[in-house]
Amino acid sequence: MKKNKFYITTPIYYTNAKPHIGHAYTTVACDVLARWNRQQLGNENVFFLTGTDEHGMKIQKKAEEVGKKPQEFVDEIVSEFKNLWSKEKLNIKYDNFIRTTDSAHIKAVQKVLQTLFDKGAIYKGEYEGLYCTGCEQFKNENELVDGKCPDHDIVPEKMKEECYLMKMTSIQSDLVKKIESNEFEIAPEKYKNEILSFLKNQTLNDVSISRKNVSWGIPIPFDPKHTTYVWVDAFLNYLTGLGWDGDEKKFPKFWPADINMIGKDILRVHATIWPAILIHLGIELPKMLFTHGHILSGGKKMSKTLGNLITIDEMLSKFGTDGTRYLLMSGGTFGDDLDLTMERMTEKYNADLANGLGNLVSRVIKLVQNINKSVDPYKSNLLQSEISKKLEEVQIDRALEAIWSYVKDANKEIEDNKPWELAKKDTSKLKEVMEHLMLELYMIADYLLPFMPETAEKIKTALKTKKIEPLFQRIK
Ligand SMILES: [Zn+2]
Repeated sequence: MKKNKFYITTPIYYTNAKPHIGHAYTTVACDVLARWNRQQLGNENVFFLTGTDEHGMKIQKKAEEVGKKPQEFVDEIVSEFKNLWSKEKLNIKYDNFIRTTDSAHIKAVQKVLQTLFDKGAIYKGEYEGLYCTGCEQFKNENELVDGKCPDHDIVPEKMKEECYLMKMTSIQSDLVKKIESNEFEIAPEKYKNEILSFLKNQTLNDVSISRKNVSWGIPIPFDPKHTTYVWVDAFLNYLTGLGWDGDEKKFPKFWPADINMIGKDILRVHATIWPAILIHLGIELPKMLFTHGHILSGGKKMSKTLGNLITIDEMLSKFGTDGTRYLLMSGGTFGDDLDLTMERMTEKYNADLANGLGNLVSRVIKLVQNINKSVDPYKSNLLQSEISKKLEEVQIDRALEAIWSYVKDANKEIEDNKPWELAKKDTSKLKEVMEHLMLELYMIADYLLPFMPETAEKIKTALKTKKIEPLFQRIK
C-alpha cells in the first residue's frame, strides 16, 4: 500500500543536562527522513515531532543542587536544545517541539490516567523493588551487572511504596502478536528478536505508574498525593505533540506514528509500557519502533576520563552544519553502534566533501561557463530510485553511499570525456556532455536535499547562475 502521510518522532530528551552528540545523531536522522518524505508527499502530509521530557526525581534533584526552581532549570536546558536545532547549527526542521511541562500535555495525560483508572487498567497497590535514580526506573535483578545498573554504574536503592500500577500481564499475549505480525514493527530485526525472546520467557510485572515522593511531576487526577511516573508522562507526548487532548475516541489525523525513533537504551520500555498504554486505551500502535545504536569513540563509550569525548559544538565549528550532518549520517550502518573519531571524520570530510562533491560541482560549473547557450536541467524522478528504497527501509548510510556512487560516476565522466579538449575541437559534443553532467548534478542536488539542505540549494543556484564559490575547503 502506498503511504499518503508520514509521522516521525524523536524520543523526547531528558532535560537533566545539555544536549550532546547522541541527541544530535537521532535528531538529524529523523530530520533527514522527514525532509525526504516532504519531498515525496508534500509538506502538509508530513509531521516531525521532537521535544523534551522535563519531569521526575532526577531533575528535581539537579535543580535543587544548583539552587534553581525545576521550571527555571528546565527552561534553560530547553533553550539549549532549541539553539542546537536552529538553522545556524544543525538545521532541524521540526513541525512541533513538545514540552511535557506544557499545560495542554499535562491535561491530556491526566485525562488518559483517569480513563485507564475508570477502565480498571490502573489499580492501587504497593511496589517494592530496586530503583535506579539514573534511569528513574525500578530494575529487575537480571538487568543488573555486579549488582549495579549497567547504564549508570550505581547500586540501585531498595524502595517500597504505595503506588498505582498498570496491568501488564493482561496485555502481554496481545503485544507479542502485534510484534510478531509486524503490526508493531520493531526494527532492525535483531531488536525485534531480542524483545520477543524477552516477552516469551518472562511474565511482565504490572508496572508502577505513580510516585509518592516526587513533587516535580503531573499529579494523578484521582489521588493528587501521587505524581505520574515520568516515563508514562513522556510516552504520551507522541500523541499530545499532535494536539491530542486525551480523548481515546478521537485521535489526530497523523496517528499512528510511522516511526518512533529511539536509541537502544530505551528500547525495553518503549516496547512494553508504551504499547501497553495504547492497548489499554484501544488506540492503534505506532507502525515502527526503529532502534539505533550508541555513539562510541575509538571503540569505547565517550567519557571525559578517557579523553575521547567529541562534542557537537566541536564538530559544528570544524565541519559546519552540512558537514556535521553528513559525517553523522555516513559514519556507519544506521542502527548499529557508531564509532567516531575526529581524525577519521576529517579524512572523510576531505575525501567525500572537499574532493568528491566539492570538486565535481566546481568543475562542472567552470566548464559550463564556456558554453554560451544555456542548458536547462529538468527535475529528476526521485521516487523510482534505489535511494528512496534505502530510505524507506531506514538505511540512511546506504542511501548516502548510493548518492556518492553518482558523485564518483560524474567525476569519472569528466575524466573520460575531457570537456576542456572538446571545447577546442567539438563544441556540439561538448554541449551534449555538459548537458548530461548538469542533469546529473541537478539530480544529485535533489537527492542531497534531505541530508544537506543548504548544500543542495547552493548547487541548484550555481547551476542556474553558472557562478560558484567553493562548497567545501580541505581542512586539517
Ligand atoms: Zn540506571
